[in-house]
Amino acid sequence: MKKITLLFFVLGTFTISGIIACGGEEKKQVVPAEVAKEQYQCPMKCTEEIYDKPGQCSVCGMELEKITKS
Ligand SMILES: [Zn+2]
Repeated sequence: MKKITLLFFVLGTFTISGIIACGGEEKKQVVPAEVAKEQYQCPMKCTEEIYDKPGQCSVCGMELEKITKS
């Protein structure tokens, strides 16, 4: 019986580390997708609003500036 308990413990440990490893990989995949997405904001930052396409600020009418994340 003890051997079976140990086996389950080892399997459980591997399963948990596997889930953690998978979660880490998923997070890494999400970040480049966010960086690739273009975002625009007013250069005067008169509004906190972030636009997903180029255009003009709804407050001051200035050309929106592309936000670049490094
Ligand atoms: Zn503005």
